[in-house]
This record gives sequence, structure tokens and C-alpha cells, in this order.
Amino acid sequence: MIGQITDRVWVDAGTSGHGFKLAPVLGDHVAGLLAGEQPAPGLAAFSPGRFTAGDPLTAGFGTARILG
Ligand SMILES: Cc1cc2nc3c(=O)[nH]c(=O)nc-3n(C[C@H](O)[C@H](O)[C@H](O)COP(=O)(O)OP(=O)(O)OC[C@H]3O[C@@H](n4cnc5c(N)ncnc54)[C@H](O)[C@@H]3O)c2cc1C
Repeated sequence: MIGQITDRVWVDAGTSGHGFKLAPVLGDHVAGLLAGEQPAPGLAAFSPGRFTAGDPLTAGFGTARILG
């Protein structure tokens, strides 16, 4: 999940074992979101709002699907 979850609360978590190496680019992305920028197209799908929007991720690895 990458994005705002409620007023003044943002999350960048659940990177499935890849969070350390992705931290520089994801940190830059989250800083942009905090500054009011639109999410990068490739990262917009990870918005926490997808759960309430009923728009889960469709990606996966092999036959395994990402949950949510
Ligand atoms: C076994 C393992 C192997 C991994 N291997 C890799 C790898 O090879 N490559 C890679 O890129 N990523 C790897 N990761 C993932 C990477 O470690 C995480 O994605 C990254 O550390 C997440 O950083 P973070 O700052 O978001 O959270 P964390 O590093 O979890 O930091 C959160 C901090 O908040 C503190 N905290 C929690 N609750 C509170 C509270 N209530 N009050 C105060 N402090 C609190 C915790 O003590 C902790 O210090 C691995 C993870 C694990 C578990």
C-alpha cells in the first residue's frame, strides 16, 4: 500500500521483502504525494483507496495472485 489512508496519515508498507531496496524511489514518490502531486501511473494502482473503490490489483507471480 502506498498512499493516504486518512487525514494526515500516509502509508508505504507491504513491499513483500523488497522494501529496503525500493525505499529511495518509493520515499521520493511519497514525498511527492505529500506535496500534492498525482501518483506516478505505475504506482497509482497501489493506492489504499483501491479497497473501498473495489479495484483490487490484478498482478501476480505465476499462478499466484496478489490479494487486494
Ligand atoms: C527477513 C526479511 C528479509 C528482508 N530482506 C530484504 C531484502 O533482501 N531486500 C529488501 O529490499 N528488503 C528486504 N526486506 C524488507 C525490508 O526490510 C522492509 O521492507 C523495510 O525494512 C521496511 O522499512 P520501514 O522503515 O517501512 O519499516 P521497518 O524497517 O519495519 O521500521 C519500522 C520501525 O518502526 C518501529 N515501530 C513500530 N511500531 C512503533 C511504535 N508504535 N512506536 C515507535 N516505533 C515503532 C519499529 O521498531 C521499527 O524500527 C526484508 C524483510 C524481512 C523481514
